[in-house]
Amino acid sequence: MSVIPSDAKMGSTNLACRHCDTSLDLLEMRVIEAENISPNALFQCPYCTSCYYPEIGLLHTLRGDGQIEKEYFGYPVSLGGTQKRDLNHVTVGEHRPVKMHSLEPGYEYNSIYLLGGHRDGVDEEDWLPFDLAGTQTQATLGEDALISLLRTGPTEIAINATLREDRKSSFPIDLGDQLEVVYHATTQLEDATNPPWIDLLQEAQEAIRNGNTLAALPVLRSAVDNCLIRQMYIYLIWDGHTHESAQQWIDNLEDGYDPNRITIAKSGLKEITGERLTDGSYATLWDDFSQVVNERDSIIHSETSSELAHLDQSTAIEFYNTTVSLLVAAYDLFGFHNP
Ligand SMILES: [Zn+2]
Repeated sequence: MSVIPSDAKMGSTNLACRHCDTSLDLLEMRVIEAENISPNALFQCPYCTSCYYPEIGLLHTLRGDGQIEKEYFGYPVSLGGTQKRDLNHVTVGEHRPVKMHSLEPGYEYNSIYLLGGHRDGVDEEDWLPFDLAGTQTQATLGEDALISLLRTGPTEIAINATLREDRKSSFPIDLGDQLEVVYHATTQLEDATNPPWIDLLQEAQEAIRNGNTLAALPVLRSAVDNCLIRQMYIYLIWDGHTHESAQQWIDNLEDGYDPNRITIAKSGLKEITGERLTDGSYATLWDDFSQVVNERDSIIHSETSSELAHLDQSTAIEFYNTTVSLLVAAYDLFGFHNP
Protein backbone atom coordinates (compact mmCIF):
# COMPACT_ATOMS: atom_id res chain seq x y z
CA MET A 1 0.00 0.00 0.00
CA SER A 2 0.97 3.62 -0.32
CA VAL A 3 3.50 4.98 2.14
CA ILE A 4 2.30 8.52 1.44
CA PRO A 5 -0.39 9.99 3.72
CA SER A 6 -3.70 9.82 1.90
CA ASP A 7 -4.40 13.54 2.25
CA ALA A 8 -1.05 14.54 0.71
CA LYS A 9 -1.31 15.45 -2.95
CA MET A 10 0.97 17.23 -5.40
CA GLY A 11 -0.90 16.94 -8.66
CA SER A 12 -2.11 14.17 -10.89
CA THR A 13 -0.16 12.24 -13.47
CA ASN A 14 -2.03 10.90 -16.49
CA LEU A 15 -2.37 7.39 -15.04
CA ALA A 16 -5.53 6.37 -13.20
CA CYS A 17 -6.51 3.03 -11.69
CA ARG A 18 -9.45 1.36 -13.39
CA HIS A 19 -10.38 -0.41 -10.14
CA CYS A 20 -10.50 2.44 -7.62
CA ASP A 21 -10.61 5.31 -10.14
CA THR A 22 -7.78 7.17 -8.36
CA SER A 23 -5.27 9.20 -10.36
CA LEU A 24 -1.67 8.45 -9.57
CA ASP A 25 -0.28 11.46 -7.76
CA LEU A 26 3.15 12.95 -8.45
CA LEU A 27 4.11 12.33 -4.81
CA GLU A 28 3.68 8.60 -5.39
CA MET A 29 6.01 8.80 -8.38
CA ARG A 30 8.82 9.69 -5.99
CA VAL A 31 8.75 6.16 -4.58
CA ILE A 32 8.09 4.35 -7.88
CA GLU A 33 10.97 3.37 -10.13
CA ALA A 34 10.08 4.98 -13.44
CA GLU A 35 11.95 2.31 -15.40
CA ASN A 36 9.37 -0.20 -14.13
CA ILE A 37 6.73 1.67 -16.10
CA SER A 38 6.74 -0.17 -19.41
CA PRO A 39 4.11 -1.70 -21.72
CA ASN A 40 4.12 -5.31 -20.55
CA ALA A 41 4.83 -4.73 -16.87
CA LEU A 42 1.80 -4.71 -14.58
CA PHE A 43 1.68 -1.63 -12.44
CA GLN A 44 0.41 -1.92 -8.88
CA CYS A 45 -1.95 0.81 -7.78
CA PRO A 46 -0.59 2.26 -4.50
CA TYR A 47 -4.13 3.10 -3.36
CA CYS A 48 -5.99 -0.21 -3.75
CA THR A 49 -3.09 -2.63 -4.56
CA SER A 50 -4.77 -4.02 -7.67
CA CYS A 51 -2.74 -4.16 -10.85
CA TYR A 52 -3.21 -2.65 -14.27
CA TYR A 53 -1.21 -2.17 -17.42
CA PRO A 54 0.02 1.43 -17.52
CA GLU A 55 -1.44 2.19 -20.96
CA ILE A 56 -4.84 1.08 -19.62
CA GLY A 57 -4.25 3.62 -16.84
CA LEU A 58 -3.74 6.31 -19.48
CA LEU A 59 -6.86 5.29 -21.43
CA HIS A 60 -8.81 5.31 -18.17
CA THR A 61 -7.71 8.90 -17.54
CA LEU A 62 -8.53 9.93 -21.11
CA ARG A 63 -12.00 8.42 -20.79
CA GLY A 64 -12.51 10.42 -17.59
CA ASP A 65 -16.16 10.87 -16.83
CA GLY A 66 -17.22 8.90 -19.88
CA GLN A 67 -17.44 11.64 -22.45
CA ILE A 68 -15.56 10.08 -25.34
CA GLU A 69 -15.29 12.83 -27.94
CA LYS A 70 -13.39 15.82 -26.64
CA GLU A 71 -10.26 17.92 -26.99
CA TYR A 72 -7.23 15.68 -26.48
CA PHE A 73 -4.64 17.74 -28.34
CA GLY A 74 -2.03 19.09 -25.93
CA TYR A 75 -2.78 16.56 -23.22
CA PRO A 76 0.33 14.57 -22.20
CA VAL A 77 0.20 10.94 -23.36
CA SER A 78 3.60 9.62 -22.28
CA LEU A 79 3.06 7.10 -19.44
CA GLY A 80 3.13 8.96 -16.12
CA GLY A 81 3.24 12.35 -17.85
CA THR A 82 1.87 15.59 -16.45
CA GLN A 83 1.00 19.04 -17.65
CA LYS A 84 1.63 22.44 -16.20
CA ARG A 85 1.05 26.05 -17.01
CA ASP A 86 3.69 28.58 -16.14
CA LEU A 87 4.61 32.20 -16.67
CA ASN A 88 7.93 33.95 -16.80
CA HIS A 89 9.47 37.28 -17.71
CA VAL A 90 11.83 38.25 -20.48
CA THR A 91 13.41 41.56 -21.45
CA VAL A 92 12.86 42.58 -25.06
CA GLY A 93 16.16 42.10 -26.89
CA GLU A 94 17.33 39.29 -24.64
CA HIS A 95 16.61 35.66 -24.04
CA ARG A 96 16.04 34.14 -20.65
CA PRO A 97 17.07 30.58 -19.83
CA VAL A 98 14.51 29.05 -17.49
CA LYS A 99 15.50 26.08 -15.41
CA MET A 100 12.29 24.38 -14.34
CA HIS A 101 12.75 24.09 -10.59
CA SER A 102 9.23 22.88 -10.15
CA LEU A 103 9.94 19.83 -12.32
CA GLU A 104 9.68 16.64 -10.25
CA PRO A 105 12.73 14.34 -10.02
CA GLY A 106 12.89 11.98 -13.00
CA TYR A 107 10.74 14.23 -15.21
CA GLU A 108 11.75 16.13 -18.30
CA TYR A 109 10.02 18.41 -20.75
CA ASN A 110 8.12 16.77 -23.53
CA SER A 111 6.57 19.72 -25.30
CA ILE A 112 5.99 23.39 -24.70
CA TYR A 113 3.78 25.94 -26.31
CA LEU A 114 2.98 29.58 -25.98
CA LEU A 115 -0.37 30.70 -24.59
CA GLY A 116 0.04 34.45 -24.31
CA GLY A 117 2.30 37.41 -23.75
CA HIS A 118 2.02 41.11 -22.85
CA ARG A 119 4.08 43.99 -21.54
CA ASP A 120 4.48 44.08 -17.78
CA GLY A 121 2.32 46.53 -15.90
CA VAL A 122 0.02 47.30 -18.85
CA ASP A 123 -3.73 47.05 -18.34
CA GLU A 124 -5.41 44.19 -20.15
CA GLU A 125 -7.40 46.49 -22.48
CA ASP A 126 -4.11 47.91 -23.79
CA TRP A 127 -2.42 44.57 -24.47
CA LEU A 128 -1.01 44.25 -27.96
CA PRO A 129 -2.44 41.52 -30.19
CA PHE A 130 -0.76 38.16 -29.53
CA ASP A 131 -0.78 35.76 -32.51
CA LEU A 132 0.88 32.40 -32.98
CA ALA A 133 3.25 32.55 -35.94
CA GLY A 134 2.92 29.25 -37.82
CA THR A 135 4.07 27.04 -34.98
CA GLN A 136 2.96 26.90 -31.37
CA THR A 137 6.33 28.00 -30.00
CA GLN A 138 6.53 31.35 -31.82
CA ALA A 139 4.23 34.32 -31.67
CA THR A 140 4.12 37.95 -32.61
CA LEU A 141 3.20 40.63 -30.10
CA GLY A 142 1.89 43.69 -31.86
CA GLU A 143 3.58 44.48 -35.16
CA ASP A 144 7.22 44.43 -34.18
CA ALA A 145 7.92 41.89 -31.43
CA LEU A 146 8.60 38.20 -31.90
CA ILE A 147 8.44 35.88 -28.89
CA SER A 148 9.78 32.36 -29.09
CA LEU A 149 10.10 29.44 -26.75
CA LEU A 150 12.90 26.90 -27.13
CA ARG A 151 13.53 23.64 -25.34
CA THR A 152 17.27 23.96 -24.73
CA GLY A 153 17.69 20.82 -22.62
CA PRO A 154 15.62 18.06 -20.97
CA THR A 155 14.72 20.32 -18.04
CA GLU A 156 15.47 23.74 -19.45
CA ILE A 157 13.80 26.14 -21.83
CA ALA A 158 14.70 29.59 -23.11
CA ILE A 159 12.29 32.45 -23.73
CA ASN A 160 13.26 34.92 -26.44
CA ALA A 161 11.88 38.33 -27.30
CA THR A 162 13.24 40.39 -30.16
CA LEU A 163 12.12 43.38 -32.23
CA ARG A 164 11.99 43.71 -35.98
CA GLU A 165 15.06 45.59 -37.25
CA ASP A 166 13.14 47.95 -39.57
CA ARG A 167 10.48 48.97 -37.03
CA LYS A 168 9.29 52.53 -37.41
CA SER A 169 9.02 53.56 -33.79
CA SER A 170 10.01 52.58 -30.28
CA PHE A 171 6.34 52.84 -29.38
CA PRO A 172 4.46 50.87 -28.09
CA ILE A 173 7.23 48.39 -27.46
CA ASP A 174 10.97 48.97 -27.15
CA LEU A 175 14.22 47.26 -26.29
CA GLY A 176 14.49 46.73 -22.56
CA ASP A 177 10.73 46.46 -21.98
CA GLN A 178 9.68 43.62 -19.72
CA LEU A 179 7.28 41.04 -21.12
CA GLU A 180 5.29 38.49 -19.21
CA VAL A 181 5.00 35.24 -21.16
CA VAL A 182 2.55 32.43 -20.38
CA TYR A 183 3.12 28.91 -21.66
CA HIS A 184 1.93 25.36 -21.33
CA ALA A 185 4.28 22.42 -20.88
CA THR A 186 3.83 18.70 -20.82
CA THR A 187 6.36 16.58 -18.99
CA GLN A 188 7.33 12.94 -19.21
CA LEU A 189 9.26 10.43 -17.15
CA GLU A 190 12.75 10.13 -18.51
CA ASP A 191 13.02 6.39 -17.76
CA ALA A 192 9.51 5.15 -18.62
CA THR A 193 8.91 3.15 -21.81
CA ASN A 194 5.80 3.76 -23.88
CA PRO A 195 4.01 1.33 -26.19
CA PRO A 196 4.37 2.35 -29.87
CA TRP A 197 0.93 3.98 -30.15
CA ILE A 198 1.80 6.50 -27.43
CA ASP A 199 5.11 7.43 -29.04
CA LEU A 200 3.26 7.74 -32.36
CA LEU A 201 0.66 10.09 -30.85
CA GLN A 202 3.50 12.19 -29.45
CA GLU A 203 5.12 12.33 -32.88
CA ALA A 204 1.84 13.41 -34.41
CA GLN A 205 1.34 16.18 -31.83
CA GLU A 206 4.87 17.42 -32.37
CA ALA A 207 4.47 17.45 -36.15
CA ILE A 208 1.17 19.35 -35.94
CA ARG A 209 2.61 21.81 -33.46
CA ASN A 210 5.49 22.53 -35.82
CA GLY A 211 3.12 23.13 -38.71
CA ASN A 212 4.22 19.85 -40.31
CA THR A 213 0.63 18.66 -40.59
CA LEU A 214 0.93 16.19 -43.45
CA ALA A 215 3.54 14.15 -41.55
CA ALA A 216 1.00 13.58 -38.77
CA LEU A 217 -1.54 11.66 -40.87
CA PRO A 218 0.22 8.31 -41.47
CA VAL A 219 1.41 8.40 -37.88
CA LEU A 220 -2.15 8.74 -36.56
CA ARG A 221 -3.26 5.76 -38.64
CA SER A 222 -0.41 3.60 -37.31
CA ALA A 223 -1.23 4.66 -33.75
CA VAL A 224 -4.75 3.27 -34.15
CA ASP A 225 -3.45 -0.03 -35.59
CA ASN A 226 -1.14 -0.52 -32.66
CA CYS A 227 -3.48 0.71 -29.90
CA LEU A 228 -6.41 -1.47 -30.95
CA ILE A 229 -4.20 -4.56 -31.13
CA ARG A 230 -2.62 -3.69 -27.76
CA GLN A 231 -6.06 -3.34 -26.14
CA MET A 232 -7.16 -6.66 -27.63
CA TYR A 233 -3.97 -8.31 -26.42
CA ILE A 234 -4.33 -6.96 -22.87
CA TYR A 235 -7.98 -8.03 -22.81
CA LEU A 236 -6.99 -11.59 -23.76
CA ILE A 237 -4.19 -11.74 -21.18
CA TRP A 238 -6.71 -10.64 -18.57
CA ASP A 239 -9.02 -13.32 -19.82
CA GLY A 240 -6.43 -15.97 -18.96
CA HIS A 241 -4.46 -16.26 -22.20
CA THR A 242 -0.70 -16.60 -22.26
CA HIS A 243 1.35 -14.21 -24.35
CA GLU A 244 1.59 -16.81 -27.15
CA SER A 245 -2.06 -17.84 -27.17
CA ALA A 246 -3.19 -14.19 -27.13
CA GLN A 247 -0.92 -13.48 -30.09
CA GLN A 248 -2.23 -16.58 -31.88
CA TRP A 249 -5.86 -15.62 -31.17
CA ILE A 250 -5.30 -12.21 -32.75
CA ASP A 251 -3.43 -13.69 -35.73
CA ASN A 252 -6.29 -16.12 -36.35
CA LEU A 253 -8.88 -13.36 -36.58
CA GLU A 254 -8.07 -12.75 -40.19
CA ASP A 255 -6.60 -15.67 -42.07
CA GLY A 256 -3.62 -14.82 -44.17
CA TYR A 257 -3.46 -11.13 -43.25
CA ASP A 258 -1.44 -9.37 -40.61
CA PRO A 259 -3.92 -8.02 -38.08
CA ASN A 260 -4.54 -4.27 -38.15
CA ARG A 261 -7.08 -1.80 -36.75
CA ILE A 262 -9.89 -3.12 -38.98
CA THR A 263 -9.36 -6.72 -37.79
CA ILE A 264 -9.92 -5.64 -34.19
CA ALA A 265 -12.62 -3.05 -34.88
CA LYS A 266 -14.72 -5.56 -36.81
CA SER A 267 -13.93 -9.15 -35.83
CA GLY A 268 -12.07 -8.89 -32.52
CA LEU A 269 -14.50 -6.64 -30.69
CA LYS A 270 -17.52 -8.39 -32.19
CA GLU A 271 -16.34 -11.77 -30.92
CA ILE A 272 -15.66 -10.54 -27.43
CA THR A 273 -18.32 -7.94 -26.76
CA GLY A 274 -20.86 -8.58 -29.52
CA GLU A 275 -20.43 -5.01 -30.74
CA ARG A 276 -18.24 -3.68 -33.50
CA LEU A 277 -16.40 -0.39 -33.42
CA THR A 278 -17.32 0.08 -37.08
CA ASP A 279 -21.12 -0.10 -36.98
CA GLY A 280 -22.14 -0.06 -33.28
CA SER A 281 -22.60 2.91 -30.98
CA TYR A 282 -19.41 4.49 -32.29
CA ALA A 283 -20.15 4.12 -36.01
CA THR A 284 -20.10 7.89 -36.62
CA LEU A 285 -16.76 8.22 -34.89
CA TRP A 286 -15.41 5.37 -37.02
CA ASP A 287 -16.63 7.22 -40.13
CA ASP A 288 -14.93 10.40 -38.93
CA PHE A 289 -11.70 8.50 -38.44
CA SER A 290 -12.06 6.92 -41.90
CA GLN A 291 -11.98 10.48 -43.20
CA VAL A 292 -8.58 10.95 -41.58
CA VAL A 293 -7.36 7.84 -43.42
CA ASN A 294 -8.94 8.96 -46.71
CA GLU A 295 -7.39 12.39 -46.40
CA ARG A 296 -4.01 10.80 -45.87
CA ASP A 297 -4.52 8.52 -48.89
CA SER A 298 -5.67 11.30 -51.18
CA ILE A 299 -2.80 13.62 -50.24
CA ILE A 300 -0.07 11.01 -50.31
CA HIS A 301 -1.18 9.38 -53.55
CA SER A 302 -0.64 12.53 -55.52
CA GLU A 303 0.37 10.81 -58.77
CA THR A 304 -1.91 12.89 -60.99
CA SER A 305 -1.79 16.18 -59.04
CA SER A 306 0.42 19.06 -59.98
CA GLU A 307 0.94 20.17 -56.41
CA LEU A 308 0.77 18.63 -52.96
CA ALA A 309 -2.35 19.48 -50.98
CA HIS A 310 -1.85 21.20 -47.64
CA LEU A 311 -3.68 20.39 -44.44
CA ASP A 312 -4.28 23.37 -42.17
CA GLN A 313 -3.37 23.19 -38.51
CA SER A 314 -6.88 23.36 -37.09
CA THR A 315 -8.04 20.47 -39.30
CA ALA A 316 -5.00 18.45 -38.26
CA ILE A 317 -5.82 19.09 -34.59
CA GLU A 318 -9.40 17.98 -35.24
CA PHE A 319 -8.04 14.79 -36.85
CA TYR A 320 -5.86 14.20 -33.82
CA ASN A 321 -8.86 14.58 -31.50
CA THR A 322 -10.94 12.19 -33.64
CA THR A 323 -8.15 9.61 -33.56
CA VAL A 324 -7.74 9.67 -29.79
CA SER A 325 -11.54 9.64 -29.34
CA LEU A 326 -11.64 6.42 -31.34
CA LEU A 327 -9.02 4.81 -29.09
CA VAL A 328 -11.02 5.80 -26.02
CA ALA A 329 -14.22 4.47 -27.67
CA ALA A 330 -12.49 1.09 -28.13
CA TYR A 331 -11.49 1.18 -24.45
CA ASP A 332 -15.13 1.81 -23.65
CA LEU A 333 -16.34 -1.12 -25.76
CA PHE A 334 -13.78 -3.49 -24.26
CA GLY A 335 -15.27 -2.52 -20.90
CA PHE A 336 -11.92 -2.02 -19.19
CA HIS A 337 -13.49 0.64 -17.01
CA ASN A 338 -15.78 -2.01 -15.45
CA PRO A 339 -13.37 -3.84 -13.19
ZN1 LIG B 1 -6.51 1.48 -7.42
